[in-house]
Parts: sequence; structure tokens; C-alpha cells
Amino acid sequence: MARVFSGIKPTGHLTLGNYLGAMRRWADVDQHRSDALFCIVDLHALTVDHDPARVRRLSRQGATLLLASGLDPELCTVFVQSHVGEHTRLSYVLECVATDGEMRRMIQYKEKSVRERARGGSVRLSLLTYPALMAADILAYGADEVPVGDDQTQHVELTRDLAVRFNQRYGHTFVVPRATPPAVAARVMNLQDPTSKMGKSDDSGPGIVYLLDEPDVVRKKVMRAVTDSGQDVVYDREARPGVANLLEILAACTGGNPAALGGVYESYGALKKDTAEAVVEVLRPVQARHKELCADPVYVEGVLRDGAEKARAMARPTVDAAYRAIGLLEPV
Ligand code: ATP
Ligand code: MG
Repeated sequence: MARVFSGIKPTGHLTLGNYLGAMRRWADVDQHRSDALFCIVDLHALTVDHDPARVRRLSRQGATLLLASGLDPELCTVFVQSHVGEHTRLSYVLECVATDGEMRRMIQYKEKSVRERARGGSVRLSLLTYPALMAADILAYGADEVPVGDDQTQHVELTRDLAVRFNQRYGHTFVVPRATPPAVAARVMNLQDPTSKMGKSDDSGPGIVYLLDEPDVVRKKVMRAVTDSGQDVVYDREARPGVANLLEILAACTGGNPAALGGVYESYGALKKDTAEAVVEVLRPVQARHKELCADPVYVEGVLRDGAEKARAMARPTVDAAYRAIGLLEPV
């Protein structure tokens, strides 16, 4: 059975992009067909300016939303990254295999370091080394597949490179994973700026649909989405990024095909209306289940405790093997 690993950072409220690009498949597909682990990768949230209490709150909320989206702890392992020490144990070793040049080439590092400076902060060293920790997240579990949105494929490529390099230098230790982005909605764009990705840590509220937005808020945001000049509804990501984004969201929510849906609509208004309703319907069961789970925090805590224990047991042999292979003396 394939081993699957993926995670989500507690850097903001989860968005429609997180859901359509990643989480939904974890619940609908991955947990049923593979041995899957899903993680709140809280250490990654410390790579940028953060409020400790907010990170803690968002970690709890993120875990609750993972379960609300349909992850079943009987079928998969749900846990918090910082509860399993193997991640940081392994990331150091991978930093000894990676080069500073390949870290500096990461698009996310470039974008986020510019943003941190623009916000008046300095750039944390951990933002640069982040991909080594992400590689550790994946390699510790011997994951074959990493279901992520499009924006994370570069980090998974780097993870592959590090795994291959380590295996060649020190002997076969790691499974070489691959990213598996979804066919549709692999990169949901900001509704107010359809040339940039919808990201949970972005500042622009009205362009971002959050999983816990009330139906009327969702409708308002979608109806106010920036569209393109022109009249006809066609799917063209280059020339009509705003309309293409709506078509992708609609297709992802209804199971359709964005190009085919383009032919169905005669006006932007009608497209927006149907897209808004489709999003509201997709979010409805997640929000209902989230409300139930919020009333039972002890259950969520229990899931995370058991998840961490299972994850630790799975990661330990691989991380021990990596320590031995790279030349560290075994503890007696
Ligand atoms: P941040 O702004 O802090 O980077 P984020 O919204 O990008 O937050 P991440 O925690 O970095 O979220 O990523 C979690 C998962 O969601 C990853 O698999 C990522 O590829 C996916 N994802 C994030 N944003 C989008 C998006 N706009 N469209 C599709 N997938 C997305
Ligand atoms: Mg991100």
C-alpha cells in the first residue's frame, strides 16, 4: 500500500485553496487507498513573524478542521509535527546534505523573505532552511506520495533530490517521494488579485475565502471577485486569469471540467452566482462537523495524542537508520 504524507501550517485560517488543493483529497481519496499521515506542521509556522498564542490556537483549529473535512483517525494518522521529535532530528541531517544555493533558489523563500522585509521584519534563518524540515517531514515516514497544491511541488522536488543524494552517498535509506497535485484547482488564486495564489497568511481579506466563512460572506467575496475585461466566459489562464480561477473553483466544487464549463455561461454574473453557491455547498458539511467537534475538544486532543504516538513509531526506524548511515555513533 502506498504511504502518503502531507501537512498544513498554522499560519492563518484555512482557505478554500487549502481545501481544494490539498485537504479534500486527503479525506475523499488518500486515506481510503493508502497508509496516510496528515500533520499540522506547526514548526513551519515559526519561520515568519508570529504570535505564539495565535499559532497555538490555529494549530488546534487546523487539527479540528482536518477532522471536520472527513479525516478519520481509524483510517489515517492525524498529528502535530512538534509532538514528534523525529522531524527535527532528521532535518539537521538533511541540512548536512543540502546546499545553501538550492535553499536560496526556492520560490517560496524568495517571496516570503520579500514579504517579511516589506512588513518591517527581518528574515529568519529557519525560513531559508524550511525545505530541509519539510523534506524530513516526508522522508521520515518513507512517503511515496505527497498530495499538495502546485505551489509545493518545488519543495517536493528538492526533497527528492535530497533523498537521492543521501542514498547515493550513504547507502539506501529513503524512499524517493513524488508530489501529486490535483488535476483541477491545484492553485486557487486570490479573488481580488487572480495573478497571485490564495494564501492563508496573506493580508488581503476580501480575496480569500476561508473555510469557516459564513455563507453570506462567501457569496459576497465571490460576487465581488475581480474578473477580466471582455464579455464571454472562456477558460484561459493567461489571458483571463480571473474568469479561469472562478471556472476552476466551480469545476473543483461540482466535479466538472473548467474548459467545458466556460462554454455554459453567457455572463460573468451567472458564473459568479453558481460558483458562490457551489462553494457554499462544499463548505456546508465541513462547517457543520467543525461545530460539532468544537464541542468535543477532548476527542480532538485524544486523536492528536494517539496520532503522535503512531507517527513516532513509524518515523523512528528510518531516522535511526539515517543517523547510522551518515556516521553517527549509536547510543548505548
Ligand atoms: P501560507 O500563506 O502560510 O504559506 P498556505 O495557504 O500557502 O499558507 P500551506 O500550509 O503553505 O498553506 O499549504 C498547505 C497545503 O495547501 C499545501 O499542500 C499547499 O500546496 C496547499 N495550498 C495552499 N494554497 C493553495 C492554493 N491557493 N491553491 C491550491 N492549493 C493550495
Ligand atoms: Mg504556503
